[in-house]
Amino acid sequence: GERTLVNVPEAIETVLALIQHKLGDRVTVATDFAGRPEINCTPALLNQVVMNILGNAADAMTEGGTITIATVSTAETDWIRISDTGPGIPEGLREKVFEPFFTTKPVGAGTGLGLAIAYSVVQAHSGSLTVEAADGGGACFVIGIPRQAA
Ligand code: ADP
Ligand code: MG
Repeated sequence: GERTLVNVPEAIETVLALIQHKLGDRVTVATDFAGRPEINCTPALLNQVVMNILGNAADAMTEGGTITIATVSTAETDWIRISDTGPGIPEGLREKVFEPFFTTKPVGAGTGLGLAIAYSVVQAHSGSLTVEAADGGGACFVIGIPRQAA
């Protein structure tokens, strides 16, 4: 798609409003927008990628919890980190979650395509999408978009 300057805090707030019904009262969202507010990308990057990561986080936190969204920019890269206080992803599965059709959800509940699509959208921006353990043991997805993306 067409690249444009996207305001990251605004885009994330829009996605949060769209999935508010899924977050309900159980999930609290904390934001820390310390990065460059505007990044050069297609709107689909933020909408689709952030939407899926947040939806997964909400699914994982069956008892509720907190999602933290933080942006940080370096000279070369704009980073968006989305962490949750759910059960996390065992180390051996952290690469598998990006494979098409990998899901741990019951039949009918998950297609296993969300993260595979997110991964290819980020790749199309010459960016990176990885997952690590959050401080409290939850999952932390890290999106990196190169500032001069090709
Ligand atoms: P789906 O949501 O349809 O299962 P995804 O590609 O979005 O497919 O996610 C694949 C799998 O990755 C999930 O089924 C789940 O096992 C794991 N996963 C993704 N996000 C999280 C998360 N925040 N916490 C724990 N597991 C996660
Ligand atoms: Mg999903």
